[in-house]
Amino acid sequence: MKIQDIQAIKLLLATPKKIAIIPHRGPDGDAMGSTLALYHFLLKFNHEPVVITPNEFPDFLAWLPGSETVKVFEKDKDNCTQILNEADLIFTLDFNALHRVGDEMEKVLASLSQTFIMIDHHQKPDDYATYVYSDTAFGSTCEMIYNFISFLDQKQAIDVTIGTCIYTGILTDSGSFKFPGTTGNTHRIVAELIDLGVPNTQIPSLLFDNSSYSRLQLLGRALQNMKVLEEHKASYTTLTQDELDHFNYIKGDTEGIVNYGLSIKGIHLTAIFIENKEEKIIKISFRSQGDFDVNQFARNYFNGGGHRNAAGGKSTVSMEETIKKFETIVTQLTYTEHES
Ligand code: 5GP
Ligand code: MN
Repeated sequence: MKIQDIQAIKLLLATPKKIAIIPHRGPDGDAMGSTLALYHFLLKFNHEPVVITPNEFPDFLAWLPGSETVKVFEKDKDNCTQILNEADLIFTLDFNALHRVGDEMEKVLASLSQTFIMIDHHQKPDDYATYVYSDTAFGSTCEMIYNFISFLDQKQAIDVTIGTCIYTGILTDSGSFKFPGTTGNTHRIVAELIDLGVPNTQIPSLLFDNSSYSRLQLLGRALQNMKVLEEHKASYTTLTQDELDHFNYIKGDTEGIVNYGLSIKGIHLTAIFIENKEEKIIKISFRSQGDFDVNQFARNYFNGGGHRNAAGGKSTVSMEETIKKFETIVTQLTYTEHES
C-alpha cells in the first residue's frame, strides 16, 4: 500500500467515524472473516462500524464473533441504505467491482460520494475507491487485513477476537493452507495468531465439521453426477434445483463440493454448475491446478472472474445448454492450453 495512502487513512481514522464495511454477495469465510476482523478492530478505536452483507451469509460462519451484529441488505434495504448514506467512510473487502454486491445494492453504493477504501486480492480491480490496497499475490483478504492493521502501526490491537476472524479467512481461502498464495508469511502470521491464543484446532472443526446428514447426501449426489473429460484433463458436476430441494438445501451446503473434481488424478480443470431457479441462473464455480487460468476462462465464457485457480461465473441459459457450452469450449481447448 502507498505510504501517502496509509498516512491519509491514519488521519481519517484519527477521529471517531461511522464506518460501513461491505463484503461481496454470497460471502465466504474470507469475506466474513475480513469484514468482522476490521469491525472489531475499528470498535477498539471508538468508531461506529457496521458490517453490511449484500445477502444472507451461510450458517457455518454464524459462530464468528460479531456475526450477530451483521446487517443484511437484502433483508433490510431501507435501514441498510440509510446506514450507507449516513456513513463517513466505506470499506469494501474481498471484492474488486461494485457489481459483486448485486444490482440493487450496487445502485446505492454507486450513488454515494463518501471515501471508499478497497482491500482485496482479486484480479483487475475497478476504479471506484479512493484508497486501494489490492494485490493478487495474497491468498486471502484476511492476510491483507493483518497487514493493513500493521501498516497503521496498530498490530498490538490484534486480540483473540480479531485473530479468530483473520485466521478463519486465511484458512478457508487457502483451502487449509494448500493453495498457491500460501507463503512463509502466511504461516508466520498464523503462528503469531496461535501464540495470541486463537483456537486454531477448534476453528476448522467449527467450519468443516458441522454438516447436516442431508448435506452429505447432496454431496453424494454431486459426486455421482460427476463427469470426467479425461482427454482434456477436465471434470465437472451439476446440481439441479430439484436435487437441491430434495436434499433440503440450505445456504452454504454446496460450499467446497467443487474441489472434489480436482482430487481425481490427472484433472487440471473442474467446475460445478448449480441451478438457481429463483434467480433464473446457473451459478458456476471453477477450480484449476497449475497454470490453467480459470479467472480468464470465467471472464471469457461465463460472465465471471476470480483468481487463477479459483473463479466463478454464471449462465442464463438452461443447465443442458450451459453444460453443452462448457463441454464444447473445453474440448476445443488445445492440449497445450491445459499444459501451459
Ligand atoms: P466460488 O467458486 O467459491 O464462489 O468463488 C471462487 C472465487 O471466484 C472467489 O474469489 C469469488 O469471489 C470469485 N467469483 C465467484 N463468482 C464470481 C462471479 O460471478 N464474478 C466474479 N468476478 N468473481 C466471482
Ligand atoms: Mn477472498
